Amino acid sequence: MKLCDFPRVSLGLFPTPIQKLNNISRELRVNVWVKRDDLTGIGLGGNKVRKLEYLLADAKAKGAEVVFTTGGAQSNHAMLTAACALKLGMTPILILKKRGVTARQGNQLLEHLMGVDVRFMDTEDYADIYAEMDRVGQALGRPYYKIPCGGSNALGSLGYVECAREIGGQGMHFDHLICAEGSGGTMAGLALGAKLYLPGTRVHGMMVDTDPFDQITPRLMREAAELLGEDIEIGPEDYILRDMCGPGYAISSPEGTAAVQMMAKLEGLFLDPVYTGKAFAGLIALAREGAFRPDDSVLFVHTGGAGGLFAVEM
Ligand SMILES: *Cc1c(COP(=O)(O)O)cnc(C)c1O
Repeated sequence: MKLCDFPRVSLGLFPTPIQKLNNISRELRVNVWVKRDDLTGIGLGGNKVRKLEYLLADAKAKGAEVVFTTGGAQSNHAMLTAACALKLGMTPILILKKRGVTARQGNQLLEHLMGVDVRFMDTEDYADIYAEMDRVGQALGRPYYKIPCGGSNALGSLGYVECAREIGGQGMHFDHLICAEGSGGTMAGLALGAKLYLPGTRVHGMMVDTDPFDQITPRLMREAAELLGEDIEIGPEDYILRDMCGPGYAISSPEGTAAVQMMAKLEGLFLDPVYTGKAFAGLIALAREGAFRPDDSVLFVHTGGAGGLFAVEM
């Protein structure tokens, strides 16, 4: 099925703006632009809204009344899934890993304000959580839909194939596109979307977790291409990965904190220490290593994360 034919609910405000970052560009000696996916129009904004437009359309089509998802205690994805499910009249239930700040701060506070059913499970394995969703769903006796961690399956990744198409329609050419990679759907969607709609644009995924993204990225790209009926080869030349995790997932790194401060000081924009700060630190590193030519245009995808900014030590 073609991308424009996939069922999609309207949750956000699209297209999101693209802005030039003049002070950052001067500092890094390359033209840096930002794609404002922190302004997607619901919750505090963020990348998960694009994925949820496809995932929750599928949930609706399948008659779901209850929507489950998971993540860490401060998952932006879980918070946005709850906000979007509520807006569509479905009941969200979040079964979260007991990692990160579980107190009523950051995304936990936002979930409290929305009155969401949040449960914690003391496990390191998402398989336990998906099994618990089935147990709870069957006990409720209502039709339910399970969204994986980060919304990162092939269907969710279409949200970022669509984002690449959107960028292509905004009238500028970018030599490089840079995003955070946490569960993989954003990077996979953008990399596939760039192959389809943005010739000459190289996509860089800045890894902020330690999962095997060299396998996850091409697998999601292939699965999303298959959904779209695109008969294309995906090879290592189609995506560029860089390890920016530092001391660990959701633990701030010195480079990430410096990047958050640089963006705040020079542009009045706030990044978060878990995803976008580390991703922007990757952009800074590439610039300082001379990976860009001076007249290159670089687009940084600001994927949101405001909710977590108030619940992580920096
Ligand atoms: C989830 C998230 C990401 C990473 O996107 P994935 O598709 O999970 O790789 C980046 N930034 C923010 C703010 C996020 O919440």
